[in-house]
Amino acid sequence: MAYDRNNIFAKILRGEIPAHKVFEDEQTLVFMDVMPQSDGHTLVVPKAAAENLFDLDPAMAAAVMRTTQWVAHGVKRAFNADGITLMQFNGPVAGQTVFHFHMHVLPRYADQPLRSHGRSMAEPRILEEHARMIRAALEI
Ligand code: AMP
Repeated sequence: MAYDRNNIFAKILRGEIPAHKVFEDEQTLVFMDVMPQSDGHTLVVPKAAAENLFDLDPAMAAAVMRTTQWVAHGVKRAFNADGITLMQFNGPVAGQTVFHFHMHVLPRYADQPLRSHGRSMAEPRILEEHARMIRAALEI
């Protein structure tokens, strides 16, 4: 499948639709997942067009992982999480629903299972507050 320039994350990257942004640098953008599977569920995307792991430039993969590791520290601190799960899906059968490569950063809390994937929208003011908490923990 060719990269679809109109996927929702491409639109966020072009500023055509809003997102609760946490951080960006030259190569990556970090924002809150609108249907969080746990409080603080954050997404890290490369700015370059890539549908999935298989067409992601290795240098871009390194940039995504560098940002992911750094943001995971902030998410863990901000939410006092007991652990962090990273998730990343490639292809519809693997559970991918948005076809621009992304890494899920999921804070985990003792005795709390993850909520369902992509099911219920969080309130914008809560997502904005969560983005603010992560920025504060990262001191940015
Ligand atoms: P995946 O199944 O790995 O492709 O996950 C796509 C993720 O994107 C899901 O967790 C959705 O909740 C999330 N999502 C969909 N639309 C948006 C959006 N406009 N802003 C932020 N997250 C989104």
